[in-house]
Amino acid sequence: MFLNKYILSYNDVIYRLDKLCKNYSNIIIKKEPIGYTSFGFPIDYYKIGNGSKDVVLIAATHGCELVTITFLLEFVYTIIKKNDKYSKYLNKYSFHIIPILNPEGYIISSSNVLNNIKNMDLISLQNYCKKYVELYEQDDLNAEKELKCEKLYKNLMTISSEFIAYSNLRYNVDKILAECKLDNRVLPIWSSNGMGIDINANSIHEFENMKNLKNTSKYGRLRYNDIPVNIPSPHGYPGDNIFDKKCPENIALYNFINKIYNNRNLKLFISYHSTGAEIYGYPQIKLTTNNQFNTILNGLNYYSELTNYTPINENIKYGVMDYYRISLENTVTLTVELSKINGNPIGPFSNIQSLNKEFTNNINSIFYTLDCISKK
Ligand SMILES: [Zn+2]
Repeated sequence: MFLNKYILSYNDVIYRLDKLCKNYSNIIIKKEPIGYTSFGFPIDYYKIGNGSKDVVLIAATHGCELVTITFLLEFVYTIIKKNDKYSKYLNKYSFHIIPILNPEGYIISSSNVLNNIKNMDLISLQNYCKKYVELYEQDDLNAEKELKCEKLYKNLMTISSEFIAYSNLRYNVDKILAECKLDNRVLPIWSSNGMGIDINANSIHEFENMKNLKNTSKYGRLRYNDIPVNIPSPHGYPGDNIFDKKCPENIALYNFINKIYNNRNLKLFISYHSTGAEIYGYPQIKLTTNNQFNTILNGLNYYSELTNYTPINENIKYGVMDYYRISLENTVTLTVELSKINGNPIGPFSNIQSLNKEFTNNINSIFYTLDCISKK
């Protein structure tokens, strides 16, 4: 690992990336943000390499998926610090990095987590995270048995919305919680943006179906079965309409991806999520050309070779990434669920050794996938 820390604050992520841009200005540059969130946070964008083919890598669509940022930062450090090894890729490709698509969600989740782990060494951190995974798994079992009992995962951390340093954001989060009849102990598992919209659920091509799905289920699954998904909430609410103005992250991403896709040569687009050690996904067959179906199928196979992650063909393909899979012809568009160990936000950090191995495998997988694509 080049990173010396596993869970970073929002400000720390930006500080580190900006420092790399200053010290390695020949390799990495900070571009104009692709957009701004409802509470004014920039959606930062960094570019590495000068090649004519494009790769887009994004993390933290879901705020509580902290490990995705740790991974993407480690990827950036790796190609910069091992420049001899990777320079051939930087001549051939341009890597477009969006380290935090959902700054508000990341701030809400990580500021609470960091207040609980700030004095821990690596051993204590892992033990603490292990404890969290146990509670979280028990909550799933209880939910499966339909037991009406308190969620155990909510009682491990000391939580307060006061840990969110931005008062406008904090005020809105408290309002959403009140309307959802939830208390602030769900802040660490906050996936949505600060307006309570789940960015990946704000569907582009299947919005009505997504909306009906959420109106029918009303609540999240398993341990999240007390979290509403049909009103603004910490998890799963798709918004009021396609490209809802309260979800500017999605609009920014759409404009950014289309600009790169139309002007250049987009080969690989990966959105990192956690958890599950899985790769999504197969495109909707009815809406996909044969050529694009095979492009993605090959990409899934290449990426799973070194990671051993399982390609998943889920039944319902209503998400934002599902739209890109069918609309970006000749682009391998994947959603990668990092971490074999479940339990966002901290479960993935319960075995650092195995996490490091997964990081290495995923970094190698990106380059292996590019090598395989270019041989086709
Ligand atoms: Zn996710």
